[in-house]
Amino acid sequence: MTFFKFCPSCGSTHFTFPDNRRFLCDDCGFTYYHNIAAAVAIIFTFEDKVLFTVRNVDPDKGKWDLPGGFIDPDETAEEAACREIKEELGMNLKPSDLKYITTSPNNYLYKNVPYRTMDIFYECSLASDVIQVAAEDEIQELIWVKRAAIDLNQIGFVSIRKVIGTYYSV
Ligand SMILES: [Zn+2]
Repeated sequence: MTFFKFCPSCGSTHFTFPDNRRFLCDDCGFTYYHNIAAAVAIIFTFEDKVLFTVRNVDPDKGKWDLPGGFIDPDETAEEAACREIKEELGMNLKPSDLKYITTSPNNYLYKNVPYRTMDIFYECSLASDVIQVAAEDEIQELIWVKRAAIDLNQIGFVSIRKVIGTYYSV
């Protein structure tokens, strides 16, 4: 894995990624830990249906996804979930509207940098299925899918496929 070609400290090319966790410069000893990034995903439910977004950007453009995103510095996971839902769907949620489900590791390749994430899943049960996209640049469309009709092959990210497959598809 060589997505950094040069040591950011001394410019050496003797730069290795020995254990998929840290970059190490053999010349000056500079070390950079490529730590796991935390992200949230929200599973909206209505009756026997689950809400998916259809991605409008890579990675996995055109595949089914869930609302959510990366957690910013100094945010709680619940705050990040509420912020992302406001940005993507224009809805105002409170942290207490979210029910924790589980976590699942994911890979997120962005501009050739292979981020590794820990996705934190919440469920939010809705009283209506009327819901709209606020971030058309990120989301092509929203689809409500009956649990029995969920096609796991349409889901792009391995973490989401696993959690939906374990907890939501029938
Ligand atoms: Zn160096």
